[in-house]
Amino acid sequence: MKRIAYLLLLSLLVMGCSSEPKVKYVFYFIGDGMGVNEVIGTNLYNQANGQENVNFTSFPVVNFITTVSANSLVTDSSAAGTALASGVKINNSVVGVDPDGNPTPNLTEWAHAAGFGTGVATSVGVNHATPASFVAHSSSRNGYEEISLQMIDSPVDFMAGSTFLTNRGSGHDAAYFEHKADSAGIAIFKGPGAIANIDLKAPRVLCLSAKVEDSLPYAIDRKEDDTRLADFTDAGIRYLEARYGKKGFFFMIEGGKIDYAGHGNDAATCFQEVNDMAQSVDLALTFLARYPKETLIVITADHETGGLMLGSGRYEMHPERLAKQHACVDELTNLFRTKFFPEGQPFKTPTWEAVKAFFAEETGMWGDVQVSERVEKDLKAIYDQTFGKGGDRNLTEENLYSTNFQIVADVVRALDRAAGYQWSFGSHSGSPVGLYVTGACAEEFNTVKDNAEIAPLIAKLAGYTK
Ligand SMILES: [Zn+2]
Repeated sequence: MKRIAYLLLLSLLVMGCSSEPKVKYVFYFIGDGMGVNEVIGTNLYNQANGQENVNFTSFPVVNFITTVSANSLVTDSSAAGTALASGVKINNSVVGVDPDGNPTPNLTEWAHAAGFGTGVATSVGVNHATPASFVAHSSSRNGYEEISLQMIDSPVDFMAGSTFLTNRGSGHDAAYFEHKADSAGIAIFKGPGAIANIDLKAPRVLCLSAKVEDSLPYAIDRKEDDTRLADFTDAGIRYLEARYGKKGFFFMIEGGKIDYAGHGNDAATCFQEVNDMAQSVDLALTFLARYPKETLIVITADHETGGLMLGSGRYEMHPERLAKQHACVDELTNLFRTKFFPEGQPFKTPTWEAVKAFFAEETGMWGDVQVSERVEKDLKAIYDQTFGKGGDRNLTEENLYSTNFQIVADVVRALDRAAGYQWSFGSHSGSPVGLYVTGACAEEFNTVKDNAEIAPLIAKLAGYTK
């Protein structure tokens, strides 16, 4: 009898995660644009600043996955988001619809069908590509109107993001969609104070920034009363636990602006965004410590952005040189404009020395960070093109999410190079990305090799209805 009981126990142990669903609480983090070098680059930046490594780099499972979409070896966020949400490869710029035009069922739909709570949170627009991939189905990721209405009509219990992004010319602003959400019975909480006190009994919850902003401010620029991704994550955990603590829940959290900083070729800002998402991971780890046998935390990325290299041509790196950059490239552009193009005052051409002093103060270039003759010559040429005789005082460079003074963008890239970080371009790369997993059944992710394999595996481990 004893022997039979022992064998039964042994067979249960051997079957482990692959037999009965073991996972009750799923946290699925997506660092948008968070390639392997963005993560390891953050560790180097943290070490140089006396901070700890990114928490998930020491997870028991660290793997990597490929990211190709159905129609390209270089994916965008909506095709990758859909692969991560549904396990189906689709074409770039489409959300939740396969190449034959069929909607692709996703993790929030499967989890809901099985009675679990569901949540999506992001540091960018609530209807941006990644959260949209987990809720909506649209032939275009930019069809914000359609995506917003689908999200409002969806059964997802908790949603959070800066605002509803809207299409210019549609005649509908963010307030219109907030009104629609309110009419659908969704309780709305805006800004950190309200979000800290959400109604845990509300049938559905939507958290937004206090002001209409396309994305939350970068961590590097954050002010006291700005909404943080961690505010959303904390509220989502409290709400989903209050309502679905018994049954379990699925919660997707996106660090959406790692990608924005990659498009802007801005390393210090990018690394602080990785650290910012890691603060939300900390909240999930606290939850895991409470329910260690039933909580699974999966962290990955949709793609890499910027072709970031560690090393910039010499056999050395100096991440400590990024320490004096106090604002992102967009905010540096604002500061540059305020300083050298003061509103309501006649324009006065600044001297090269004054421009260098500005960057010394705001970025460390020409301050703690020495600038080589060759780099100074290149940057002085941009100064001449901007402020010289017949120059273009509005000489700017456009990236996917912002337009900056050319000289500001070039100084930040030069600072990154001086620190040993080299950007290749302002778009996505086809590089593989990391997969970091801890908690119940984490070892199952050792064999995952592609982004489309994650969603079906989570569904299986958590017992969702596919
Ligand atoms: Zn991107």
